[in-house]
Amino acid sequence: MAELRVQARSPALSQPAAEDGLLGPAAIRELAQRLDLRPTKTLGQNFLHDANTIRRIVRTAELRPDDVVLEVGPGLGSLTLGLLPAAARVVAVEIDPRLADLLPQTVADRRRDLADRLTVVHADALRVTELPGPAPTALVANLPYNVAVPVLLNLLELLPTLDRALILVQAEVAERLAAPPGGSAYGVPSVKAAWYGQVRRAGAVSRKVFWPEPNVDSGLVALVRRPPPPGDRAATFAVVDAAFAMRRKGLRAALARWAGSPSAAEARLRAAGIDPADRGEQLSVTDFARLAATDPVQP
Ligand code: SAM
Repeated sequence: MAELRVQARSPALSQPAAEDGLLGPAAIRELAQRLDLRPTKTLGQNFLHDANTIRRIVRTAELRPDDVVLEVGPGLGSLTLGLLPAAARVVAVEIDPRLADLLPQTVADRRRDLADRLTVVHADALRVTELPGPAPTALVANLPYNVAVPVLLNLLELLPTLDRALILVQAEVAERLAAPPGGSAYGVPSVKAAWYGQVRRAGAVSRKVFWPEPNVDSGLVALVRRPPPPGDRAATFAVVDAAFAMRRKGLRAALARWAGSPSAAEARLRAAGIDPADRGEQLSVTDFARLAATDPVQP
């Protein structure tokens, strides 16, 4: 994991279009040309080029002046430039070395006054195990879409100081993350996110504000951390995975392998006060935690 510090370099990039230094379409084009960047789908590289969307995301994040913001995937710096005035520090974790390398210069060119608030870390957010500097208090990110859920869950687990998150994800993922029990959108991401906090959708974002334009809609999701339900996280997540692997089946059948047999599953479900005919989508995270805490049935 390499930490990159702001270094003066020339030639300077074009002057900021707005006084807040945010990146518009021309600046995004210029930065991409400078790197000869061809955005990849594998890394979910869809860059925001609309200052109003950036301002809206930052407003919705309700940052406090003392917040240490963790941004995953800063890309060309669109959101980073919006976050810097609103927080004490921004720690930006970027997997693409060319983007990680360019970001300090972009910030120095456009918001030199705030450049010392930024730390860029060249790393994979799925594998990161420690971060430099003060512990992050808020995650604000336009996440790479194909790894959005694992990145979110990984960081919530790794960083107990993160007490809020506002993430931009594919609309379908936003719906799943925020879904309450009982509907078809409710599944593994909904239950696991609910382990960490209260989740709600925080607005739709048009595909027109990205370059390149994705072929899916996007949405914001806000999470506010709360104490998890009593019980063991790994054990709870194991039963959640088992229940939704066969989501159309009743829990007695779906959890047979997890419990050892259908009758053992039934005994544990009854011990947790859950009807064995229920399906996984009817259970809240607290129900799953209670079920995981029941005693295994001896064969
Ligand atoms: N924040 C920028 C914006 O809003 O314009 C870029 C967002 S783009 C959707 C996702 C960014 O995440 C890209 O810069 C990509 O290189 C980076 N990325 C992809 N996978 C990553 C990972 N596993 N860890 C850290 N960064 C990642």
